[in-house]
Amino acid sequence: MALLTVNNLTKNYDGKPAVNEINFQFQPGKCIALIGPNGAGKTTTLRMLSGLIKPSSGSVAFSGMKQNDDIRKYIGYLPQYPVFYAWMTGKEFLIYVGRLAHLSKEEANKRTEMLLERVGLTEAKNRRIGKYSGGMKQRLGIAQAMIHHPKLLMLDEPVSSLDPIGRREVLTLMEELKEDMTILFSTHILGDADEVSDELLLLHEGKIVESGSMEELRHKYQTAKIELRFQ
Ligand code: ATP
Repeated sequence: MALLTVNNLTKNYDGKPAVNEINFQFQPGKCIALIGPNGAGKTTTLRMLSGLIKPSSGSVAFSGMKQNDDIRKYIGYLPQYPVFYAWMTGKEFLIYVGRLAHLSKEEANKRTEMLLERVGLTEAKNRRIGKYSGGMKQRLGIAQAMIHHPKLLMLDEPVSSLDPIGRREVLTLMEELKEDMTILFSTHILGDADEVSDELLLLHEGKIVESGSMEELRHKYQTAKIELRFQ
C-alpha cells in the first residue's frame, strides 16, 4: 500500500491557486524530491501534507488513513526556516522538543542521545546552537523532525540556504537516512534532487508537470530533444 496518497490537492490564496489539483502517491522506503522554481507551490504542498494548513479541496491519505490530527504523529516536518533557541545547547533543544512531543523525561533523553549520534552532533551536543554552523543547525533540525519516530520525513528546502560544506553534510545525512526512512524533500536545484532522490515530482505554477526517476525523465527529454535544466 502507498505510504502517502494525494488526491486533487488544491490550495487557493485570494481566489488564486498556489497548488492546483495535484495527484501523486509513493511507496514506503523511497526518497522523493519535490522540485520546482520559487513560487511553484512546494512549501504550500508540504504544509498541507503535514497538516499545518488546510487544503481548499482534495485529500491526503497516509497508509490508507484519511488526513486528520492522527496522521501528524507519523510525519516529521522540517520547515524551510526552522526556529532554534540559540541559547540552548543541541542536547537541551532536542530534550525540549521531545518533551513537547509528549515523550517521558527518560524517553526524551534516550531519543536525544540516539538522534545526536545519528545526525553526527554527539561531540557538539553541549555547545550552544548559536555557535553551530548552518549545516549543523540543519542536521539538528532533522533530528528535531525525527524526535517522535515519524514514518515519513518531510524536509522543505533542506540545503538551499547552506554553504557547500553544510550542503554536503546534509545531503550525506539524507543519503544515510533514506536507508530506513521515507523522505519527501523540496528543492529548486536539480542537482540536489538528482543526488539523493529515487523519484522526482516536478511542480510548476502549482501543477505537477512531470514525475518519475531522473533516468526516466532524462530519457524522455533526450528523446524529445529538450534539455532538462532548472534555473
Ligand atoms: P519558495 O521556494 O519561494 O518558497 P515555493 O515553491 O515553496 O517557493 P510557495 O511558498 O508554496 O512556493 O508559494 C506558492 C504561491 O503561493 C506563491 O505565488 C506565493 O506567493 C503564494 N502564497 C504562499 N503562501 C501564501 C499566503 N500565506 N498567502 C498568499 N499567498 C501565498
